Amino acid sequence: MSSINYESIAQKDAAHVMQTYGRQPIALASGKGALVRDIYGVEYIDCVAGIAVNNVGHCHPRVVEAIKSQAEKLIHVSNLYYTEVQANLAEELVKLTGMERAFFCNSGAEAVEAAMKLARVTTGKTEFIAAERSFHGRTMGSLSVTYKEIYRAPFRPLVQEEIFVPYDDANAMAEAITEKTAAIIIEPIQGEGGVHVPSDGYLQEVRRICDEHGILLIFDEVQTGFGRTGKWFCKDHFGLQPDIMCMAKAMGGGFPMGGIVARKGIAFGKGQHASTFGGNPLACAAALGSISAIKEDKLLEHATEVGIYFMDKLRKANISGFKEVRGRGLMIGLELERNCTEIVEYARKNGVLLNSTSETVIRFAPPLVITKDQIDRVVEVIEQA
Ligand SMILES: *Cc1c(COP(=O)(O)O)cnc(C)c1O
Repeated sequence: MSSINYESIAQKDAAHVMQTYGRQPIALASGKGALVRDIYGVEYIDCVAGIAVNNVGHCHPRVVEAIKSQAEKLIHVSNLYYTEVQANLAEELVKLTGMERAFFCNSGAEAVEAAMKLARVTTGKTEFIAAERSFHGRTMGSLSVTYKEIYRAPFRPLVQEEIFVPYDDANAMAEAITEKTAAIIIEPIQGEGGVHVPSDGYLQEVRRICDEHGILLIFDEVQTGFGRTGKWFCKDHFGLQPDIMCMAKAMGGGFPMGGIVARKGIAFGKGQHASTFGGNPLACAAALGSISAIKEDKLLEHATEVGIYFMDKLRKANISGFKEVRGRGLMIGLELERNCTEIVEYARKNGVLLNSTSETVIRFAPPLVITKDQIDRVVEVIEQA
Protein backbone atom coordinates (compact mmCIF):
# COMPACT_ATOMS: atom_id res chain seq x y z
CA MET A 1 0.00 0.00 0.00
CA SER A 2 1.40 3.38 -0.88
CA SER A 3 -0.79 5.93 0.89
CA ILE A 4 -1.51 5.61 4.60
CA ASN A 5 -5.15 5.59 5.45
CA TYR A 6 -7.19 4.86 8.54
CA GLU A 7 -9.18 2.02 6.95
CA SER A 8 -6.11 0.01 5.98
CA ILE A 9 -4.62 0.36 9.47
CA ALA A 10 -7.88 -0.62 11.16
CA GLN A 11 -8.30 -3.59 8.81
CA LYS A 12 -4.78 -4.82 9.46
CA ASP A 13 -5.38 -4.49 13.19
CA ALA A 14 -8.67 -6.36 12.94
CA ALA A 15 -6.98 -9.16 11.04
CA HIS A 16 -3.79 -9.55 13.07
CA VAL A 17 -4.05 -8.03 16.55
CA MET A 18 -5.97 -9.80 19.32
CA GLN A 19 -9.09 -7.71 19.65
CA THR A 20 -8.82 -6.97 23.36
CA TYR A 21 -9.20 -3.20 23.08
CA GLY A 22 -12.22 -1.07 22.28
CA ARG A 23 -10.27 1.46 20.25
CA GLN A 24 -11.47 4.90 19.23
CA PRO A 25 -11.67 5.11 15.41
CA ILE A 26 -8.62 7.30 14.78
CA ALA A 27 -4.97 6.52 14.08
CA LEU A 28 -2.52 8.84 15.83
CA ALA A 29 0.77 9.80 14.29
CA SER A 30 2.43 12.58 16.29
CA GLY A 31 2.16 14.73 19.37
CA LYS A 32 3.57 17.81 21.07
CA GLY A 33 2.74 19.02 24.57
CA ALA A 34 -0.96 18.43 25.24
CA LEU A 35 -1.78 17.98 21.55
CA VAL A 36 -1.79 14.91 19.31
CA ARG A 37 -2.36 14.63 15.57
CA ASP A 38 -3.84 11.80 13.58
CA ILE A 39 -2.46 10.47 10.30
CA TYR A 40 -4.43 13.13 8.36
CA GLY A 41 -3.03 15.97 10.46
CA VAL A 42 -6.23 16.52 12.46
CA GLU A 43 -5.31 17.94 15.86
CA TYR A 44 -6.76 16.92 19.24
CA ILE A 45 -6.40 18.25 22.77
CA ASP A 46 -5.40 15.14 24.65
CA CYS A 47 -7.21 14.70 27.99
CA VAL A 48 -6.13 11.07 28.20
CA ALA A 49 -2.32 11.33 27.93
CA GLY A 50 -1.94 7.65 27.16
CA ILE A 51 -3.86 6.95 30.40
CA ALA A 52 -1.97 9.24 32.77
CA VAL A 53 1.36 8.47 31.12
CA ASN A 54 2.46 11.53 29.15
CA ASN A 55 2.63 13.81 32.21
CA VAL A 56 5.41 15.97 30.74
CA GLY A 57 3.57 16.25 27.43
CA HIS A 58 4.09 14.37 24.19
CA CYS A 59 7.66 14.16 22.94
CA HIS A 60 9.07 16.48 25.59
CA PRO A 61 12.51 17.60 24.33
CA ARG A 62 14.17 16.47 27.59
CA VAL A 63 12.77 12.95 27.18
CA VAL A 64 13.47 12.79 23.44
CA GLU A 65 17.05 13.93 23.98
CA ALA A 66 17.59 11.51 26.89
CA ILE A 67 16.34 8.56 24.83
CA LYS A 68 18.30 9.57 21.72
CA SER A 69 21.61 10.06 23.44
CA GLN A 70 21.26 6.90 25.56
CA ALA A 71 20.23 4.89 22.48
CA GLU A 72 23.48 5.85 20.80
CA LYS A 73 25.51 4.59 23.75
CA LEU A 74 23.81 1.50 25.15
CA ILE A 75 20.25 0.22 24.89
CA HIS A 76 20.28 -2.91 26.99
CA VAL A 77 22.70 -5.02 28.99
CA SER A 78 20.60 -6.90 31.64
CA ASN A 79 21.02 -6.74 35.39
CA LEU A 80 24.12 -8.91 35.31
CA TYR A 81 26.05 -5.63 35.10
CA TYR A 82 25.96 -2.19 36.66
CA THR A 83 24.95 0.87 34.68
CA GLU A 84 25.40 4.40 35.93
CA VAL A 85 22.04 5.53 34.65
CA GLN A 86 20.13 2.92 36.73
CA ALA A 87 22.03 3.83 39.89
CA ASN A 88 21.33 7.52 39.22
CA LEU A 89 17.61 6.90 38.77
CA ALA A 90 17.40 4.84 41.98
CA GLU A 91 19.16 7.64 43.87
CA GLU A 92 16.75 10.22 42.43
CA LEU A 93 13.64 8.15 43.26
CA VAL A 94 14.77 7.52 46.80
CA LYS A 95 15.26 11.27 47.22
CA LEU A 96 11.86 12.09 45.73
CA THR A 97 9.97 9.53 47.82
CA GLY A 98 11.84 9.46 51.11
CA MET A 99 12.12 5.68 50.77
CA GLU A 100 15.25 3.54 50.99
CA ARG A 101 15.64 1.38 47.89
CA ALA A 102 14.14 0.79 44.46
CA PHE A 103 13.47 -2.28 42.32
CA PHE A 104 12.85 -1.75 38.61
CA CYS A 105 10.43 -3.50 36.28
CA ASN A 106 8.49 -2.58 33.16
CA SER A 107 4.84 -1.91 33.93
CA GLY A 108 2.28 -1.17 36.62
CA ALA A 109 1.10 -4.75 36.97
CA GLU A 110 4.68 -5.89 37.39
CA ALA A 111 5.23 -3.26 40.06
CA VAL A 112 2.19 -4.60 41.92
CA GLU A 113 3.47 -8.18 41.51
CA ALA A 114 6.82 -7.11 42.93
CA ALA A 115 5.13 -5.36 45.87
CA MET A 116 3.01 -8.44 46.63
CA LYS A 117 6.00 -10.77 46.50
CA LEU A 118 8.02 -8.38 48.65
CA ALA A 119 5.20 -8.20 51.22
CA ARG A 120 5.02 -11.99 51.38
CA VAL A 121 8.75 -12.51 51.67
CA THR A 122 9.09 -9.73 54.28
CA THR A 123 6.23 -10.80 56.55
CA GLY A 124 6.12 -14.55 55.98
CA LYS A 125 2.36 -14.11 55.59
CA THR A 126 0.38 -14.71 52.42
CA GLU A 127 -2.81 -12.67 52.20
CA PHE A 128 -3.81 -9.18 51.11
CA ILE A 129 -6.63 -6.74 51.71
CA ALA A 130 -7.69 -4.41 48.89
CA ALA A 131 -10.47 -1.91 48.32
CA GLU A 132 -13.67 -2.20 46.36
CA ARG A 133 -13.40 -0.44 42.97
CA SER A 134 -9.61 -1.00 43.06
CA PHE A 135 -7.54 -1.45 39.93
CA HIS A 136 -4.04 -2.87 40.27
CA GLY A 137 -3.40 -4.64 36.97
CA ARG A 138 -4.14 -7.76 34.93
CA THR A 139 -1.44 -10.31 35.75
CA MET A 140 -2.52 -13.14 38.05
CA GLY A 141 -1.27 -11.53 41.27
CA SER A 142 -2.32 -7.98 40.47
CA LEU A 143 -5.64 -9.26 39.09
CA SER A 144 -6.26 -10.94 42.44
CA VAL A 145 -6.30 -7.53 44.13
CA THR A 146 -8.30 -5.91 41.29
CA TYR A 147 -11.99 -5.54 42.07
CA LYS A 148 -13.99 -5.84 38.87
CA GLU A 149 -15.67 -9.20 38.58
CA ILE A 150 -15.64 -9.13 34.76
CA TYR A 151 -11.83 -8.98 34.85
CA ARG A 152 -11.56 -11.77 37.45
CA ALA A 153 -14.22 -14.27 36.51
CA PRO A 154 -12.63 -15.94 33.45
CA PHE A 155 -9.28 -16.49 35.16
CA ARG A 156 -9.99 -18.31 38.40
CA PRO A 157 -8.37 -19.69 40.46
CA LEU A 158 -6.70 -16.42 41.46
CA VAL A 159 -4.09 -15.88 44.14
CA GLN A 160 -6.75 -14.92 46.66
CA GLU A 161 -10.51 -14.40 46.96
CA GLU A 162 -12.59 -12.53 49.55
CA ILE A 163 -10.16 -9.73 49.71
CA PHE A 164 -12.15 -6.51 49.20
CA VAL A 165 -13.50 -4.01 51.70
CA PRO A 166 -15.28 -0.71 50.95
CA TYR A 167 -12.92 2.17 50.07
CA ASP A 168 -12.81 5.00 52.59
CA ASP A 169 -13.99 2.80 55.48
CA ALA A 170 -11.14 2.30 57.96
CA ASN A 171 -13.20 0.11 60.31
CA ALA A 172 -13.96 -2.33 57.51
CA MET A 173 -10.24 -2.46 56.79
CA ALA A 174 -9.38 -3.16 60.43
CA GLU A 175 -12.02 -5.88 60.70
CA ALA A 176 -10.75 -7.68 57.60
CA ILE A 177 -7.28 -8.26 59.07
CA THR A 178 -6.43 -11.83 60.06
CA GLU A 179 -3.26 -13.58 61.24
CA LYS A 180 -2.57 -14.38 57.57
CA THR A 181 -2.64 -10.75 56.36
CA ALA A 182 0.67 -9.61 54.87
CA ALA A 183 -0.36 -6.21 53.56
CA ILE A 184 -3.04 -3.75 52.60
CA ILE A 185 -2.79 -2.51 49.03
CA ILE A 186 -4.55 0.69 48.10
CA GLU A 187 -4.58 3.53 45.58
CA PRO A 188 -4.31 6.82 47.52
CA ILE A 189 -6.76 8.20 44.94
CA GLN A 190 -8.61 5.55 42.97
CA GLY A 191 -8.13 5.95 39.23
CA GLU A 192 -9.81 3.35 37.02
CA GLY A 193 -12.52 2.94 39.65
CA GLY A 194 -13.80 6.41 38.74
CA VAL A 195 -11.44 8.95 40.40
CA HIS A 196 -12.35 8.64 44.09
CA VAL A 197 -10.56 10.85 46.59
CA PRO A 198 -10.56 9.49 50.16
CA SER A 199 -11.98 11.48 53.08
CA ASP A 200 -9.60 13.42 55.32
CA GLY A 201 -7.91 11.14 57.79
CA TYR A 202 -8.78 7.86 56.07
CA LEU A 203 -5.31 6.97 54.80
CA GLN A 204 -3.71 8.10 58.08
CA GLU A 205 -6.09 5.74 59.88
CA VAL A 206 -5.17 2.92 57.49
CA ARG A 207 -1.51 3.63 58.24
CA ARG A 208 -2.24 3.44 61.97
CA ILE A 209 -4.13 0.15 61.58
CA CYS A 210 -1.20 -1.36 59.67
CA ASP A 211 1.24 -0.31 62.39
CA GLU A 212 -1.01 -1.64 65.12
CA HIS A 213 -1.29 -5.05 63.46
CA GLY A 214 2.26 -5.24 62.16
CA ILE A 215 1.21 -5.49 58.52
CA LEU A 216 2.58 -3.63 55.53
CA LEU A 217 0.96 -0.74 53.69
CA ILE A 218 1.39 -0.76 49.92
CA PHE A 219 0.45 2.37 48.01
CA ASP A 220 -0.26 1.78 44.36
CA GLU A 221 0.83 5.11 42.88
CA VAL A 222 1.01 3.78 39.34
CA GLN A 223 -1.55 6.36 38.21
CA THR A 224 -1.14 9.06 40.87
CA GLY A 225 2.64 9.38 40.65
CA PHE A 226 5.01 11.86 39.02
CA GLY A 227 3.01 15.03 39.50
CA ARG A 228 -0.39 13.79 38.39
CA THR A 229 -2.09 15.09 41.56
CA GLY A 230 0.11 18.19 41.92
CA LYS A 231 2.72 16.54 44.17
CA TRP A 232 5.51 14.18 43.20
CA PHE A 233 3.44 11.38 44.70
CA CYS A 234 -0.07 11.41 46.02
CA LYS A 235 1.12 10.26 49.45
CA ASP A 236 2.63 13.74 49.89
CA HIS A 237 -0.87 15.20 50.24
CA PHE A 238 -1.43 13.04 53.31
CA GLY A 239 1.88 13.43 55.13
CA LEU A 240 2.50 9.72 55.50
CA GLN A 241 4.80 7.03 54.18
CA PRO A 242 3.69 3.63 52.95
CA ASP A 243 6.03 0.67 53.41
CA ILE A 244 6.11 -0.12 49.70
CA MET A 245 5.09 2.09 46.80
CA CYS A 246 4.33 1.01 43.22
CA MET A 247 4.99 3.28 40.27
CA ALA A 248 4.81 3.02 36.47
CA LYS A 249 2.65 4.89 33.90
CA ALA A 250 4.24 8.38 33.82
CA MET A 251 7.56 7.13 35.18
CA GLY A 252 9.42 6.96 31.85
CA GLY A 253 7.80 10.02 30.25
CA GLY A 254 5.99 7.63 27.88
CA PHE A 255 8.68 4.97 27.74
CA PRO A 256 7.46 1.69 29.34
CA MET A 257 8.83 1.42 32.84
CA GLY A 258 7.72 0.43 36.33
CA GLY A 259 9.21 0.07 39.75
CA ILE A 260 8.72 -0.13 43.47
CA VAL A 261 10.42 1.71 46.28
CA ALA A 262 10.39 0.42 49.84
CA ARG A 263 11.24 1.88 53.20
CA LYS A 264 14.27 1.04 55.31
CA GLY A 265 14.47 -2.61 56.25
CA ILE A 266 12.22 -3.84 53.43
CA ALA A 267 14.04 -5.20 50.39
CA PHE A 268 14.34 -8.32 48.27
CA GLY A 269 17.39 -10.41 49.02
CA LYS A 270 19.69 -11.90 46.41
CA GLY A 271 17.78 -13.95 43.84
CA GLN A 272 14.34 -13.25 45.31
CA HIS A 273 13.08 -11.30 42.32
CA ALA A 274 14.35 -10.23 38.91
CA SER A 275 13.45 -8.74 35.56
CA THR A 276 15.49 -9.00 32.37
CA PHE A 277 14.51 -5.55 31.13
CA GLY A 278 13.94 -3.97 34.55
CA GLY A 279 15.89 -0.74 34.92
CA ASN A 280 17.21 -0.99 31.39
CA PRO A 281 19.46 1.97 30.41
CA LEU A 282 17.06 3.39 27.84
CA ALA A 283 14.12 3.33 30.26
CA CYS A 284 16.17 4.83 33.08
CA ALA A 285 17.44 7.62 30.84
CA ALA A 286 13.86 8.38 29.78
CA ALA A 287 12.74 8.45 33.42
CA LEU A 288 15.56 10.81 34.42
CA GLY A 289 14.70 13.03 31.45
CA SER A 290 11.07 13.09 32.47
CA ILE A 291 11.89 13.89 36.11
CA SER A 292 14.07 16.84 35.06
CA ALA A 293 11.27 18.06 32.78
CA ILE A 294 8.83 18.01 35.73
CA LYS A 295 11.31 20.07 37.77
CA GLU A 296 12.37 22.54 35.06
CA ASP A 297 8.86 23.19 33.76
CA LYS A 298 7.52 23.48 37.32
CA LEU A 299 4.80 20.98 36.49
CA LEU A 300 3.78 20.27 40.09
CA GLU A 301 2.85 23.91 40.58
CA HIS A 302 1.25 24.10 37.15
CA ALA A 303 -0.81 20.91 37.67
CA THR A 304 -2.05 22.22 41.01
CA GLU A 305 -3.02 25.60 39.57
CA VAL A 306 -4.70 24.46 36.37
CA GLY A 307 -6.23 21.46 38.16
CA ILE A 308 -8.17 23.81 40.43
CA TYR A 309 -9.06 25.94 37.41
CA PHE A 310 -10.26 22.88 35.47
CA MET A 311 -12.43 21.51 38.29
CA ASP A 312 -13.89 24.93 38.95
CA LYS A 313 -14.76 25.38 35.27
CA LEU A 314 -16.40 21.96 35.11
CA ARG A 315 -18.49 22.73 38.21
CA LYS A 316 -19.68 26.05 36.79
CA ALA A 317 -20.25 24.77 33.27
CA ASN A 318 -23.64 23.97 31.89
CA ILE A 319 -23.24 20.22 31.45
CA SER A 320 -26.38 18.19 30.98
CA GLY A 321 -26.73 15.36 33.51
CA PHE A 322 -23.96 16.85 35.72
CA LYS A 323 -23.57 15.05 39.05
CA GLU A 324 -20.16 15.67 40.57
CA VAL A 325 -16.53 16.66 39.94
CA ARG A 326 -13.83 14.94 41.98
CA GLY A 327 -10.05 14.99 41.91
CA ARG A 328 -6.67 16.41 42.84
CA GLY A 329 -4.30 18.23 40.52
CA LEU A 330 -4.88 16.96 37.00
CA MET A 331 -6.49 13.68 38.00
CA ILE A 332 -10.12 14.64 37.62
CA GLY A 333 -13.36 12.72 37.36
CA LEU A 334 -16.62 14.16 36.06
CA GLU A 335 -19.56 12.03 37.11
CA LEU A 336 -22.75 12.33 35.10
CA GLU A 337 -26.24 10.98 35.49
CA ARG A 338 -26.01 9.53 32.04
CA ASN A 339 -23.81 7.37 29.85
CA CYS A 340 -20.59 9.08 28.69
CA THR A 341 -20.11 7.26 25.40
CA GLU A 342 -21.80 9.92 23.28
CA ILE A 343 -19.81 12.71 24.93
CA VAL A 344 -16.54 10.92 24.27
CA GLU A 345 -17.55 10.50 20.64
CA TYR A 346 -18.78 14.07 20.20
CA ALA A 347 -15.60 15.42 21.79
CA ARG A 348 -13.40 13.35 19.52
CA LYS A 349 -15.20 14.65 16.47
CA ASN A 350 -14.57 18.14 17.80
CA GLY A 351 -10.88 17.80 18.54
CA VAL A 352 -10.82 16.62 22.16
CA LEU A 353 -9.77 13.16 23.34
CA LEU A 354 -11.63 11.97 26.44
CA ASN A 355 -11.80 8.67 28.25
CA SER A 356 -14.52 7.28 30.49
CA THR A 357 -13.47 4.96 33.32
CA SER A 358 -16.93 3.67 34.00
CA GLU A 359 -20.20 4.23 32.18
CA THR A 360 -20.90 7.50 33.97
CA VAL A 361 -17.47 8.96 34.77
CA ILE A 362 -15.23 10.92 32.40
CA ARG A 363 -11.67 10.75 33.67
CA PHE A 364 -9.42 13.69 32.74
CA ALA A 365 -5.70 12.95 32.94
CA PRO A 366 -4.22 15.41 30.43
CA PRO A 367 -0.50 16.09 30.09
CA LEU A 368 0.43 18.34 33.01
CA VAL A 369 1.53 21.00 30.50
CA ILE A 370 -2.06 21.63 29.38
CA THR A 371 -2.89 25.36 29.29
CA LYS A 372 -5.93 27.24 30.57
CA ASP A 373 -6.93 28.05 26.98
CA GLN A 374 -6.89 24.38 26.13
CA ILE A 375 -8.94 23.60 29.24
CA ASP A 376 -11.46 26.30 28.22
CA ARG A 377 -11.84 24.62 24.86
CA VAL A 378 -12.29 21.17 26.44
CA VAL A 379 -15.04 22.42 28.76
CA GLU A 380 -16.72 24.26 25.88
CA VAL A 381 -16.83 21.05 23.81
CA ILE A 382 -18.26 19.09 26.74
CA GLU A 383 -20.97 21.73 27.22
CA GLN A 384 -21.87 21.46 23.52
CA ALA A 385 -21.98 17.70 23.78
C1 LIG B 1 -2.75 1.30 35.14
C2 LIG B 1 -2.63 0.84 36.55
C3 LIG B 1 -2.00 -0.38 36.87
C4 LIG B 1 -1.51 -1.35 35.82
O1 LIG B 1 -0.50 -0.81 35.05
P1 LIG B 1 -0.06 -1.54 33.69
O2 LIG B 1 1.17 -0.81 33.27
O3 LIG B 1 -1.20 -1.40 32.72
O4 LIG B 1 0.20 -2.96 34.02
C5 LIG B 1 -1.86 -0.70 38.21
N1 LIG B 1 -2.32 0.11 39.17
C6 LIG B 1 -2.94 1.28 38.90
C7 LIG B 1 -3.40 2.15 40.02
C8 LIG B 1 -3.13 1.68 37.58
O5 LIG B 1 -3.76 2.82 37.31
